[in-house]
Amino acid sequence: MQPAPDILVVGAGVFGVTAALELTSRGHTVALAVQGPPPFSLAASTDLSKVVRMEYGSDALYMRLAEEAMNGFDAWNESLSRPFYHETGVLMLSRDPMRPGEFEHDSWQMLRQRGHEPERISPSELASRFPAFDANVHTDGFFHARGGWVESGALVAELFGRAVANEVTFVEGMVTDVRITNGRCEGVVLSDGQTLTAGHVLLACGAWTASLVPELKPFFRSSGHPVFHLKPAHPERFTPPEFCTFTADIAHTGWYGFALHPEAGVVKIGRHGTGLDIDPVHDERQVLEEDITAMWSFVRESLPELVDSDLVYTRRCLYADTIDGDYWLDRHPEYAGFTVASGGSGHGFKMAPILGSLIANRIEGIADERLARFAWRTNSIASKREAARFHG
Ligand SMILES: Cc1cc2nc3c(=O)[nH]c(=O)nc-3n(C[C@H](O)[C@H](O)[C@H](O)COP(=O)(O)OP(=O)(O)OC[C@H]3O[C@@H](n4cnc5c(N)ncnc54)[C@H](O)[C@@H]3O)c2cc1C
Repeated sequence: MQPAPDILVVGAGVFGVTAALELTSRGHTVALAVQGPPPFSLAASTDLSKVVRMEYGSDALYMRLAEEAMNGFDAWNESLSRPFYHETGVLMLSRDPMRPGEFEHDSWQMLRQRGHEPERISPSELASRFPAFDANVHTDGFFHARGGWVESGALVAELFGRAVANEVTFVEGMVTDVRITNGRCEGVVLSDGQTLTAGHVLLACGAWTASLVPELKPFFRSSGHPVFHLKPAHPERFTPPEFCTFTADIAHTGWYGFALHPEAGVVKIGRHGTGLDIDPVHDERQVLEEDITAMWSFVRESLPELVDSDLVYTRRCLYADTIDGDYWLDRHPEYAGFTVASGGSGHGFKMAPILGSLIANRIEGIADERLARFAWRTNSIASKREAARFHG
């Protein structure tokens, strides 16, 4: 009979896999309970691409974390089987002239305060450098060469492979319950009735988290957001350097997107907005006609050359939204041996290279001032959103 692992990680999205890798590298025995071999189709981490940016308006903490994460992506591009992070740069456009209090302006300011060199983009520069955009629509903005996109699903599969190669054991099964005895978390119960015990349990279950930790329900929301894959009639016009990861007045519209995916041959467009309330276990995750209509209206106005594209795929994917938009990385305040790592709130994947060490520091009780805002917080939380998030 195999001894119980030091740490059982539930969930093999980017939070769970990076934590499992880090914990095993620190000498812990680690097991991973997963609903299915990653990348799991319904996981938020499973996708063609995710934006990697350091722009967070005036929020210095997230910019700093993203700087660290980008250095981590550089290192992974050297140490993993191939590069998964692609530095195309990011183009952040604003309809109106950038002004204080707005996402683009405050990001621009913060970038320069932290020694970065974004390039301001006038309409004539937009027309000449990024001709696919209608330069009459976005009158201001900037291009920042540091940033781009990461192949999220493929990276999770690679990291999972590394975890298993480093003796992380994995168990396939759906966790239905967390077992607490005398104020201590002993393990979890699977849907087939099996109990998995461990010295410490880490729940990294994304949008499913509150369904396993009901006391978090008031502070978590599972919200569904549409993404669209367009096959352009002229793909060559949507490749770097003339086209790159972009945000289009995102705090007022939610729209963002990526350059042509080198393998899939599609331009992915997404909307970082309020989203729909979706129960991760029971609800369907459909993209509605009105989402598609809104997408085409955005394309017609801002990216007219994409109008002739074929819409070849849509998906509604779930955010694990916290009430204040900050990640949730902490030990349970009442039960020993139990940690929750979730709350990506639509912006967690870019932190992949540092997530493992943040979570492991929390489990090991190592002081880490980066974690202060991600602590268990149940009283007087100000309801706020990440700076790029569209409220409409
Ligand atoms: C449409 C969309 C676009 C996004 N774009 C970006 C972006 O551009 N940049 C960015 O940085 N971030 C982005 N994000 C956010 C990012 O994807 C998430 O923050 C991140 O992937 C969350 O990872 P996770 O590991 O917490 O959750 P997930 O990836 O959802 O993984 C959760 C895991 O838990 C498992 N699980 C759940 N319940 C159980 C259970 N009961 N038993 C066993 N296993 C269980 C699931 O199978 C899954 O493997 C986006 C998210 C969405 C939805």
